[in-house]
Amino acid sequence: MLAAMPPTPDATAPGPGAPDRGRSDACPGALRLHTADDGALARIRIPGGLLTDRQAMALADAAGELGDGHLETTSRGNVQLRGLPSGSGLDLGRRLRAAGLLPSDSHERVRNIVASPAAGLDGQGHADVQAWVRELDRLLCASEAAAGLSGKFLFALDDGRGDVAALDADVTLIATAGGGVLLRLGRAATARRVPADQAVRQALGAAEEFLRALRAGGGRAWHLREVPELLDPGAEPLPALPGTTLAPGALAGGLLVGLRFGRVSAVQWRTLAEVAADAAGELRLTPWRGVVLPGAPAARLPELARAGFRTDPGTAWERAGACTGLPGCAKSVADVRTDAARALDAAVGGGLPVHWSGCERRCGHPAGRWVDVLATGQGYRVTRMAVDGTAGPSVDVTTEQMAEAVAEARRTM
Ligand code: SF4
Repeated sequence: MLAAMPPTPDATAPGPGAPDRGRSDACPGALRLHTADDGALARIRIPGGLLTDRQAMALADAAGELGDGHLETTSRGNVQLRGLPSGSGLDLGRRLRAAGLLPSDSHERVRNIVASPAAGLDGQGHADVQAWVRELDRLLCASEAAAGLSGKFLFALDDGRGDVAALDADVTLIATAGGGVLLRLGRAATARRVPADQAVRQALGAAEEFLRALRAGGGRAWHLREVPELLDPGAEPLPALPGTTLAPGALAGGLLVGLRFGRVSAVQWRTLAEVAADAAGELRLTPWRGVVLPGAPAARLPELARAGFRTDPGTAWERAGACTGLPGCAKSVADVRTDAARALDAAVGGGLPVHWSGCERRCGHPAGRWVDVLATGQGYRVTRMAVDGTAGPSVDVTTEQMAEAVAEARRTM
């Protein structure tokens, strides 16, 4: 998708202090729309995936009145609207500002923050990372330098359960038992212990240091991991984190529902907002295409299942994703979501994360070990990816054979 970025004026271009990376940062935003094959696309950053029920309603209204009537969640817990008229940016910006979803025009694309979505609900973590999200967002938007970050730079705030710490962020904070906090840079195997009351400020400081180094050295990096000399390994080995993942259904302290490939209609989205309004008034979008509804009772699950959300744990849909594919993206050689949905509905149980792609860009693929399912034009190539990003054994199959090959690859790694 990124290569098709049109030469639209960049309303959010960073100032002259931004590093010259030698190529433009094509990440779409809420103000700089991306021209896709199905119309303009807006990506609205939702730090920590945190929305009030009113903000969720405002997004549903925008999707219905300006876009194609659907909303998508991304692998960073952000929201995309598609099918927008090319001239709708001003109207969308006005709506987002009114809803409190656009606190800074100049920083709108750098507010990339993921956080443990069940923090504070189930007693499993060691910190209220939602408070960290709000503090980091405020500091980011107040930092003139931070406007020079790329739209790909990611902060992860993990409450100690090891969920978002696995997302390959540029800067990660990890809460530890007893009120401690570790700061990890890039993919370093070690981390630095930081004072809890300074942790968020130091996370932002690491990002600002990265920008200073880029400016001084004329660097072209997008990510901290691309600048090894900046990766202060710190003194502490990374702790073994539980790596907890959430399953759809009732949680301690609320509900989790899954969105098939992260895409729902505005009508479905309003159902979520209404359930949230009857509970704590809050929605938390997860980086795994789910939504946590704090305080919502299990009695609402049947209604959410009828509305088309995934509410059952243990199905093949868990940890499954797919790029846009046809018809939304002309680079694709297949309608990957339709093929993937058929395969997932037919499969029993899950396994490793799996991601379908319509071309070799593999937009939105997961990190760590996963199964890559690439459309080839004749069918699919199913490949097991190792944790270091190298490709393992692969098999070329027809579309009809693909479900079985994917199920086996997910089971046998
Ligand atoms: S991976 Fe999918 S969405 Fe991305 S460019 Fe290729 S076909 Fe389009």
